[in-house]
Amino acid sequence: MSKRQKLGSLSALRTLRSGKTLVTAKSSEETSPYFARKKVTSTKTGAKKRAQIKIEYNTAEDDTSVENTEVISTVQIKSEDMRKSTDTKTVNTKVLEIKSEDVKQSKDASDMKIEKSEVVRDDTNPKHVKDEKQSQWMPPNWETILENIREMRKHNTAPVDEMGCHKCADPNASPSVSRYQSLVALMLSSQTKDQVTHAAMQRLNIYGCKPDIIAETPDDVLGKLIYPVGFWKRKVEYIKKTSVILLNKYNGDIPRTIKELCDLPGVGPKMAHICMQIAWGEVSGIGVDTHVHRISNRLEWVRKQTKTPEETRNELEDWLPKPLWSEVNHLLVGFGQEICLPRFPKCSECLNKDICPYDRKNRGKIKK
Ligand code: SF4
Repeated sequence: MSKRQKLGSLSALRTLRSGKTLVTAKSSEETSPYFARKKVTSTKTGAKKRAQIKIEYNTAEDDTSVENTEVISTVQIKSEDMRKSTDTKTVNTKVLEIKSEDVKQSKDASDMKIEKSEVVRDDTNPKHVKDEKQSQWMPPNWETILENIREMRKHNTAPVDEMGCHKCADPNASPSVSRYQSLVALMLSSQTKDQVTHAAMQRLNIYGCKPDIIAETPDDVLGKLIYPVGFWKRKVEYIKKTSVILLNKYNGDIPRTIKELCDLPGVGPKMAHICMQIAWGEVSGIGVDTHVHRISNRLEWVRKQTKTPEETRNELEDWLPKPLWSEVNHLLVGFGQEICLPRFPKCSECLNKDICPYDRKNRGKIKK
């Protein structure tokens, strides 16, 4: 018996011992669903393979046709272009015309640039140099901030509105005396609250606030009249000397230039610019006092933080449009008196709190 026959007998015996019916491999293949499934799968696999070949073939065919389509369409487009080539000349001519117009325009623009740069390069003209500076920098959101300040100041409830230097002259005084009283009020207002200045001016006006009268008034009397304005003793001296100069040099009136005003004892640029505006109705520059100086720095209306009001004035005048110069002092002084206080500004009440650089930097540190 061969090895294979022995194995077959052993297998048959095991099957008989287990009680199962001995069936031939052929009959199993015919009845078993496993084999049936296998058969089906095998048939499917074969079909799949054929299908794949078919698909590949079809795809190749399709690709060819797509390529053909593209080529054809390209050719068509090209040929259309060829057909339209006569029209294209016209179009090209138009394009050329437009281009030549552009060239003309760009030439004009470059001419303008040259003119502008020529103007800027004119260093002998300070205004032109200033114009160049103005075009270079402006603080962000400044217009919104200014509008917000106007809105916060619209009720004119700040001390400066009722008792500022523009309200200190006697309304019945002659124009030259009125100008003199405005100048004296400005001299008193330095380092002094508006209420105190205004009260002192009321006393002076009743006493007789004219240059000839003040020049003859004893120091102690004048001192009593203006007390308790800040640095009242020094101011007595300045006011008396100024009154004498005005009598001798300006016929009792006040000078009309910044330089001449600044030459008077105790008169600085801030006072001079405000005086030009109040007394002469002329805007010569921005009057920068402690409020304008502080607020301009908080709002970063200066390119870098400034140390003196004069620096701040130069910075502001570099970018702030001139028509706004006349209002900015009064606006910011009142704003500084009511909201943007020197210590503990009321940022939570301020319309600028979301765009103010100072509030952004100090949020959490400021007592609100
Ligand atoms: S947010 Fe504060 S610091 Fe800024 S402008 Fe207003 S009050 Fe002044």
